Amino acid sequence: MEFLEEFQNRLKEWGATFVGFSKVHDKLSPGLKPVGNAVTIGIRLSDFIIDQIDSFPTYAYFHHYRTVNALIDHITLRGLLFLQDNGYKAMAVAASQTVNDTEDKYCGIFPHKTAAVTAGLGWIGRNGLFISNEYGPRVRLGTILTDMELPAGENMVKDSCGSCRKCVEACPAMALTGNCWEAGCDRSRVVDAKACSDYMNSKFKHIGRGSVCGICIRVCPQGEKRGRGQGKE
Ligand code: SF4
Ligand code: SF4
Repeated sequence: MEFLEEFQNRLKEWGATFVGFSKVHDKLSPGLKPVGNAVTIGIRLSDFIIDQIDSFPTYAYFHHYRTVNALIDHITLRGLLFLQDNGYKAMAVAASQTVNDTEDKYCGIFPHKTAAVTAGLGWIGRNGLFISNEYGPRVRLGTILTDMELPAGENMVKDSCGSCRKCVEACPAMALTGNCWEAGCDRSRVVDAKACSDYMNSKFKHIGRGSVCGICIRVCPQGEKRGRGQGKE
């Protein structure tokens, strides 16, 4: 337990806002099963930058998205090296990477959201995004897979979108179906990833390659009402 506490403290020292643990063995491809436990890290995004998003993405958000991904990759790389130095197998899942030789062209080798939801850190909203219990969708996630035993059970949090449809109505690409996410459901039940990606590519390539609009993050009341500290006057 002392080692786990030290590991968790280090992840936070390196920049993680929050950390969670889950067992994801049954959700992994055969090659990843030897590292069937997941350490999730989350980074809280800048409210100021998110609040500037209106009906299109901003250069500031694009840069923020990229630099937070870089920080996540940095933290999870340091985490995996730390675990390896202590005798465990570990691998970091890229913060943002699409694997094009799979059936779904818009996903990575393992979805961070799956581990985060299993760890009880939040749920998946109608916007198809992870909604943190504390910060709503204004977070980005990273994952380290390891064979280290973790104190993790099935801790799923119930989806709390209720009757809200703000993200569905605000999405300029009409990429959100309005359906609620259910454990084990296909992503296409909630979001048309191709429609989202095509819209970004056709309208906002000038902002940067792989830009995301962020409207479905900005409008979500779960992000607006949560995690606001008392700012200095
Ligand atoms: S990022 Fe923009 S286009 Fe894509 S789902 Fe969200 S609101 Fe729609
Ligand atoms: S905007 Fe509303 S419906 Fe969309 S994810 Fe947030 S709470 Fe759920």
